[in-house]
Amino acid sequence: MKILIAVSEVVPYAKTGGLADVAGALPKEFVRLGHDVRLIMPRYAKVKQNLETVRTGLDVDLAGVRVAFDLLSDSDQGYQALFIDCPKFFDRNGLYGEEGSDFPDNAARFAFFAKAVLAAVEAVDFRPDVVHCHDWQSALIPLLLKRGDYPYFGETACLFTIHNLAYMGAFSPEEALPLIGLGEGICVPEGGIEYYGKVNYLKAGLVFADVLTTVSETYAREIQTREFGYGLEGVLSSRSADLYGVLNGIDYELWNPATDPDISVNYSGEEPSGKALCKADLQREYGLPQRDDVPLFGMVTRLADQKGLDLFEKAADGFFANNLQFTLLGTGDPKYHELFTDLAARYRKKCGVMLAYDAALAQRIYAGADLFLMPSRYEPCGLGQLIALAYGTLPLVRATGGLADTIREGENGFVFTNYDFPDLLSAVERVLAAFSDGETWQALVGRAFAARYSWGRSAERYVELFTQARAKRLRG
Ligand code: ADP
Repeated sequence: MKILIAVSEVVPYAKTGGLADVAGALPKEFVRLGHDVRLIMPRYAKVKQNLETVRTGLDVDLAGVRVAFDLLSDSDQGYQALFIDCPKFFDRNGLYGEEGSDFPDNAARFAFFAKAVLAAVEAVDFRPDVVHCHDWQSALIPLLLKRGDYPYFGETACLFTIHNLAYMGAFSPEEALPLIGLGEGICVPEGGIEYYGKVNYLKAGLVFADVLTTVSETYAREIQTREFGYGLEGVLSSRSADLYGVLNGIDYELWNPATDPDISVNYSGEEPSGKALCKADLQREYGLPQRDDVPLFGMVTRLADQKGLDLFEKAADGFFANNLQFTLLGTGDPKYHELFTDLAARYRKKCGVMLAYDAALAQRIYAGADLFLMPSRYEPCGLGQLIALAYGTLPLVRATGGLADTIREGENGFVFTNYDFPDLLSAVERVLAAFSDGETWQALVGRAFAARYSWGRSAERYVELFTQARAKRLRG
């Protein structure tokens, strides 16, 4: 099958979150399954690889203006990655914004991206059987395929994956409609992309893709409810027959404590002794007392409301009253920068904080911590808990979305259900009890090491759904 993946961030080229991990792993899996794959993304300033020029002087119409771009490529990852090179829109340090604010021209940037993707693959005559789009940044593609004037793609199906429903790309109709170029008829609530008076790019994916997926079974159910649906639960429910949960995996070549070059000592499930040294080094790095008799919690996260940080704030005094340590690596919302700076000052011997984005330090936390904390308000899939398991680090999670689907209390981690701090604190008590019982703890850690959430099965599931999308498209 000819598969085109259109996506806004991809490991190892540019990453802000889990989407990039997923988009980096999937094309390799599709190639392994024997498919003809192209991935296409913007060339940001962050993309440092040496890229080959494929085409120059391409252009698309954006609100009556011709916007020119070049098409670049890289094949070092085992598949062909194509890059839309348009410095006016993408040669910037941030992907979607800078210093906590979105770029003011995101409506134009990602309307352009959608159109440029279609123009680019047509220019190189790659006619996909299916386009796999991800999140709001590539969500206009299904709309253009169905309603735009693209005869070349007459038989191309579209599968749209929701990685996080909360990020929608909602813009004023006055700005967005001319960019999309389909007129006002498309800006209606039923069967269109109107959303509380705005144009909602994500909704274009939800309404016009042939098949929808999201990244866990539980999240697929949750987003059809008012609590998690952000006002899109109606659209999602109306498409429930086409909506599937496909769990993310992780790349075990990348996340492997036996070979990880960024951790102090390599170790494995069979030879786990190095983990204690990683813990001691992490404690030193964070200026915490080097003790092996207290559990060390780690957190690596975007500092966003989604991640349950307000819950952690409420639990903090009770949490730090225990005999434990905590290290955080994260960046994001300034109010949480303040919160964690304050906690680090108040609990000097127990709480270490680094407000940064640092991939190597993240690995040292996965390796050195005993526990990985994810008290998320919602979590479409979550990769942190899967990476933690690979490093023999036990997740403590709230049962929502993919966390509910991957972590089981007493089997490979600790789970609480209600979004309230007494529940979180009682899970911490269960952690302390298990930690003080060497045998129980070792059994849990052994099962964490043994857990496998690899991409193989999920990639096969996507291919089945591509076939389904294609059959639907051909039926019309
Ligand atoms: P989300 O996509 O919502 O941010 P996920 O758990 O799905 O959450 O994926 C987060 C990914 O980003 C993980 O690979 C995690 O290690 C990484 N990450 C998050 N914050 C940081 C940070 N400050 N430094 C390094 N890596 C980070």
